[in-house]
Amino acid sequence: MKEWEVRYIEKIDRAEGTKSFRFERPRDFEYLPGQYFFIEIPGEGDRRLVHHFSFSSTPSEPDFIEFTTRIRESEFKQTIDALKLGTLVHVSEIHGEFTLDKRMKKVAFLCGGIGITAAFSNISWAAVTNAEIDIILLYANHNQRAIAFKNEIDGFTGDWFKAVHILSQPEEGWTGLKGHIDAGFIHSQVPDWSERFFYISGPPAMVEAIKKVLAEDVGIPEDKIKTENFLGY
Ligand SMILES: Cc1cc2nc3c(=O)[nH]c(=O)nc-3n(C[C@H](O)[C@H](O)[C@H](O)COP(=O)(O)OP(=O)(O)OC[C@H]3O[C@@H](n4cnc5c(N)ncnc54)[C@H](O)[C@@H]3O)c2cc1C
Repeated sequence: MKEWEVRYIEKIDRAEGTKSFRFERPRDFEYLPGQYFFIEIPGEGDRRLVHHFSFSSTPSEPDFIEFTTRIRESEFKQTIDALKLGTLVHVSEIHGEFTLDKRMKKVAFLCGGIGITAAFSNISWAAVTNAEIDIILLYANHNQRAIAFKNEIDGFTGDWFKAVHILSQPEEGWTGLKGHIDAGFIHSQVPDWSERFFYISGPPAMVEAIKKVLAEDVGIPEDKIKTENFLGY
């Protein structure tokens, strides 16, 4: 198993309560977009705190690796939020198959909340490498303040990409769509759904609900659906 000590270099606000954490990327650090890794940080006394996260960075970025999370009351989240820049942390075990494949010509990412991280890594990779994959992103959140990577997503332009936001509890001023990712929404926003491969990422309850809609209401075969369950939410 490969392991690295990497230096913590930057924290970035992405949405309300949602932050990205960046670390220097070692030269021999290889990963695929949408994969996840284990990170161990120093806690109180001798305690070592371990969590795993999807990369929100893309492998074509040579200088840093990044993950993004919702800051909650847990020991890990409070500790990483207070971590001093320059601290060395332990990173290991890169896993996961939530990765775009250049043989796929048309895909759709269906994401809820923090599930955007693994999709964002893939979409950034497709943009940077001119992967020639036609991508639709359906991104569900509670309200405007919860939308992570909004500017970056809106910055992906070109015929290859379309993003549609949907909010369950939008606040005043929202002119976009209201509701959840259901069959009607998928049919209207992904009219060529029968030609696409589907990726779903987010908290487990949401991933399971969307998978059921895709399989039972839309009629997508299981072998055309890939999921990443963010267990722990
Ligand atoms: C493949 C994968 C990718 C992930 N990517 C991200 C990401 O990009 N961003 C992000 O914020 N989170 C991601 N997660 C979830 C992350 O690992 C944490 O579980 C989550 O952030 C909650 O951490 P916490 O410190 O707030 O809660 P914790 O205090 O760690 O846990 C809250 C509750 O969940 C339970 N729990 C924690 N981890 C697991 C687990 N693995 N399986 C089952 N139960 C568990 C605990 O027992 C506790 O009851 C991912 C998880 C997986 C499996």
